[in-house]
Parts: sequence; structure tokens; C-alpha cells
Amino acid sequence: MKPPKFAYHAPAALEEAIQLLERYQGNARVLAGGQSLVPLLNFRLLAPEALVDLRKVPGLADIRVSQDRIHIGAMTRQRAAEVSPAVRQHLPIMKEALGWVGHLPTRTRGTIGGSIAHADPSAELPMVLLALDGEVFVRGPSGARTIAADDLFDSVFTTTLAPGEIIAEVRIPPMDAHAGFAVEEYARRKGDFAIVAIAAIVEGNAERCTRARLVAAGAGGRPVRLRACEEMLQQRGLDAQTVEAASRKAAESVTPTADPVASADFRRHLTGVLAKRALGRAIKLLEVPSHG
Ligand SMILES: Cc1cc2nc3c(=O)[nH]c(=O)nc-3n(C[C@H](O)[C@H](O)[C@H](O)COP(=O)(O)OP(=O)(O)OC[C@H]3O[C@@H](n4cnc5c(N)ncnc54)[C@H](O)[C@@H]3O)c2cc1C
Repeated sequence: MKPPKFAYHAPAALEEAIQLLERYQGNARVLAGGQSLVPLLNFRLLAPEALVDLRKVPGLADIRVSQDRIHIGAMTRQRAAEVSPAVRQHLPIMKEALGWVGHLPTRTRGTIGGSIAHADPSAELPMVLLALDGEVFVRGPSGARTIAADDLFDSVFTTTLAPGEIIAEVRIPPMDAHAGFAVEEYARRKGDFAIVAIAAIVEGNAERCTRARLVAAGAGGRPVRLRACEEMLQQRGLDAQTVEAASRKAAESVTPTADPVASADFRRHLTGVLAKRALGRAIKLLEVPSHG
């Protein structure tokens, strides 16, 4: 199918993009990599009056390391992040997650900011952004602000971005160099969206878990931080019995809904199974002196 008619703008500055969005009063969409937006247009599920392409806006596709954050420009292609030495060194779980995002051709076009703004509840990047305590830096008609991942994702395909706001950058604290981490996912075919995915990050050693972070995608309307499991691991450690109990807790803590892809029970079951697998792999990495 062909998309409905729309005006096309490719501004050369972010301020201009913001003004254009304002001018269309909610009837324009930002175009990033187009890997989610264009299918929605082609299926005529969306009919915006205009597209505001960010392709020509300078400075939106850099990856930069500052003292306490990795800064990833919103227009950074997913593939560029996947092969970035800075991401490999400081955010290895993001590199692993990117391997699960679609296919090489979609990652070559799709952007980091686009995936986060799209807020698909099964998507890997929102999941890891939440697991890594990341935030987005946004610019809009009322100025600039940062939004923590936990405050950004609202519900299915919905964020707390205000009308006219554009994600300019994603900011993430670097991972502890000795952290164990893993992404586990179950999808019908390689490259499909996850039915359920889990991101796990653990710090400490076999005796004492100083910090655990566990997030599920596909198990609710937005990525879900499994805080009760994290607390259990931090209080009791990373032995097999605790991992078993935490994984059971993970399954109990989520409230997925049924859809044509999977029943709610199946998603809940997968949450427990994948949490156990992810924690198992993450804990094994803790024993490796240097990785990433
Ligand atoms: C075959 C196929 C398989 C896929 N599989 C997966 C998968 O397994 N996992 C996964 O996570 N994704 C998957 N995707 C989606 C892909 O990751 C998209 O790239 C991503 O969802 C959207 O990024 P984009 O840059 O293409 O954004 P676009 O499609 O251009 O935009 C998506 C939405 O975000 C908004 N937007 C974009 N950038 C910004 C910004 N900077 N600020 C504010 N709003 C913005 C747009 O207005 C639009 O509403 C798949 C896509 C395809 C075609």
C-alpha cells in the first residue's frame, strides 16, 4: 500500500524542526529511520499532515563519552551503536541487545532515538535504557529537559514526551567494568519483535550482590523494572536457590495482557524462564576478570 499524502520537510537545524512541529499543531511526525513510521503510514494506520525528517540536523548522530555518561545522539543508527567501540566498552549490554533488534538492514536505517520514542513494549532498546538507568535529553517548544527512562515510558507506544518535543540525545551512565550482564529473548523467528525479553545486570560476587538490575520487555504495556527481584538478589546473594526464587518472583510480578501473538500466561511463564537464563549467564560473567 502507498502512504497517504503528506508534506515533507528536512530542516537543517533542530530549532527549525521544533518550529515545524509547532506549526502543524500535533499533525506532523518526526521521521528518523522510518523503520516503524513508514510501515504505519503504508498501512494507513497514521495519516500525519507532514513529516519532519531529522536527517539533515547536524550533531544528532554522534556517540560521545563524558566523565559520567555515554551520550548517544538520537539519530545514531542502531548499527552504528552496535559496532561503536564506546558502546562495546561502556555499555556492553546495549551492544548485546542491539543484536536482537530486527535485521541488519533495519538496524542500518533505524535509529536509537526512534526506537525509544516509538516505545514498543516488546522493543529491546527501551528495555536496556531502563536497565541502565538512562535518560533522554529532549528539546521542545518550552525549552530543554531530561527525562529518566522510568518516567519516559508510559504505556503501549506512548511516552511522556510533550507535543513538539524531540529526543536529541540518550544519556547513559557507563556500566561497572566488572558487571555481569545478559539479554535473553524469545521470539517466533530471528529478527521478530520479542514475545518476552529480559535484560539482567549484576554486580558483586557469588557471596554478595551489590547491585542487581532486571527489566522485562513484552510483559506489560511498557518495559517493567523487576524491583522485587532486584531486592531479593541484593539481600540474599546470587546462589542458585535465590536465582530460582527471584525468577519465580519475576513471573509473579508482571501483568501482561493476551494478544494474538501470545497469551498472558505464556508471557508470564517466559518472564520467569528468561529471567533465570539471563541471571545465570550474567552471574557466570561476574567470574570472568575482564570482558566487554
Ligand atoms: C522487519 C522489521 C523488524 C523489526 N524488528 C524489531 C525488533 O526486533 N526490535 C525492535 O526494537 N524494533 C524492531 N523493529 C523496529 C525498528 O527498530 C525501528 O527502527 C524503530 O522502532 C524505530 O526507529 P526509527 O529510527 O526507524 O524511527 P521512525 O520509524 O522514523 O519513527 C518511529 C516513531 O518515533 C518518532 N520519533 C523518531 N525519532 C524521534 C525523536 N528523535 N524524537 C521524538 N520522536 C521521534 C517518530 O515520529 C515515530 O512516531 C523492526 C522493524 C522492521 C521493519
